[in-house]
Amino acid sequence: MTQDDTVNSFTLPNNIDIAIIGGGMVGASMAALLPAHFNVLLVESFPLPENNAAPIYQPSYDARSSALCHSSFEIFQEIGLWQTLSKHVQPIAQVHVSDKGHWGSTLLDQKQSTNIPALGYVIENAWLGRCLLHFIQQKTNVSFASPAQVKKLQARQGGVTLQIENKAGKVAEVKAKLAVIADGAQSKTCQRLGIHHHVTDYHHTAIVANISTSDAHQGIAYERFTDKGPLALLPLINNKNDGHRSALIWTMATEEANTLLSLDDDAFLQALQQRFGHWQGQMIKVGQRHSYPLQLSTANEQVRQNIVVLGNAAHSLHPVAGQGFNLALRDVQVLCQHLANANAPLGELSVLEAYAKAQKNDQMLTSLFSDVLPGMFARKNPLITTGRGLGLLGIELLTPLKSSFINFATGLRPS
Ligand SMILES: Cc1cc2nc3c(=O)[nH]c(=O)nc-3n(C[C@H](O)[C@H](O)[C@H](O)COP(=O)(O)OP(=O)(O)OC[C@H]3O[C@@H](n4cnc5c(N)ncnc54)[C@H](O)[C@@H]3O)c2cc1C
Repeated sequence: MTQDDTVNSFTLPNNIDIAIIGGGMVGASMAALLPAHFNVLLVESFPLPENNAAPIYQPSYDARSSALCHSSFEIFQEIGLWQTLSKHVQPIAQVHVSDKGHWGSTLLDQKQSTNIPALGYVIENAWLGRCLLHFIQQKTNVSFASPAQVKKLQARQGGVTLQIENKAGKVAEVKAKLAVIADGAQSKTCQRLGIHHHVTDYHHTAIVANISTSDAHQGIAYERFTDKGPLALLPLINNKNDGHRSALIWTMATEEANTLLSLDDDAFLQALQQRFGHWQGQMIKVGQRHSYPLQLSTANEQVRQNIVVLGNAAHSLHPVAGQGFNLALRDVQVLCQHLANANAPLGELSVLEAYAKAQKNDQMLTSLFSDVLPGMFARKNPLITTGRGLGLLGIELLTPLKSSFINFATGLRPS
């Protein structure tokens, strides 16, 4: 190494088992679930808080939330994280599905499902992130590079070499047996490796905001399909200052979303009330509105020798069915099981292929469910609208079908 190299470099553990690229919800979950005998480095481009004191809940009216399904609850419970998470989650007791202007509405009730305590749980992403981070900071096998970015990933005999650049522009080279790419939907690492994505642009945008209503949500999550696009209102834990809070995810054509985003709060609430109806009384307050352009994006390769792609970098779904993170977490769980039980060197392609094969159906069905549902309900054809009304009535009337729908939405799978 020359003197210049020393000045421009920084130190990281340079021979590790697993490098995780991206410390978002999926990368952090991977670090949380990996067994302690793997030596792990998590690289995240944003600064992760260094303080590893127990996570403190900081209520924010504008926080973004996710619906966790039963499978995610089980996974977090198994690793001992649920007890902390559950201090600030809202269980979903019922899911109310309806179609504006058409017959048919259906209520999926936790009591009709297969003995699970709730149909799902709504959690603020900031709280989930804080708890996950604290959990992995307690693990002695996980080290961190943050803020730092993976700039290069190269295959070598028995593993990969990563070039990691910190905020000061200094570079470290790290050898790993396995690289887990979890750097999000626009994955630069995938692009550099020539891993392409099949992208369907919905030309739709999701508007996300928190809403206060005059009536309590009573643990009900609403999925309302309108001619403009689907909207979901998820129950949130109450916060003293803001009354009965719910998280809104409202998707529609991008042009219409832009119009709605430009309205003042009162006009926005009026438009929402008109679309949603009065299932939860009067809409009285809206927080900061965020928007997300919607795409279905699927990587054309998820595994290579010593490399695996996870989370949004592997598949990014329409958010209305609330399945993206839940699916990714099941991927993480199955991958960790395959790595732990492998009778082969870490990163061996056959093991990674076995993981990909094991998750293929779950990924395919979940993507299909998330893709078909909003598309079906957005169509104006009268035959389809009658059909979907009957579909909702059908789900209402046919208990076995309803149970299957619940099983799917909660992430329960036939064993
Ligand atoms: C509006 C909306 C609502 C949703 N609601 C739900 C829901 O209710 N339930 C559900 O299950 N899912 C939901 N999802 C999906 C869920 O949010 C995603 O599945 C999840 O956020 C994916 O996380 P990720 O870690 O893969 O990616 P990201 O969250 O994008 O994280 C990637 C991380 O990688 C880091 N990074 C990027 N490049 C580098 C690099 N070169 N080096 C190091 N680090 C890097 C980034 O800083 C980032 O922290 C929703 C999505 C949207 C848009």
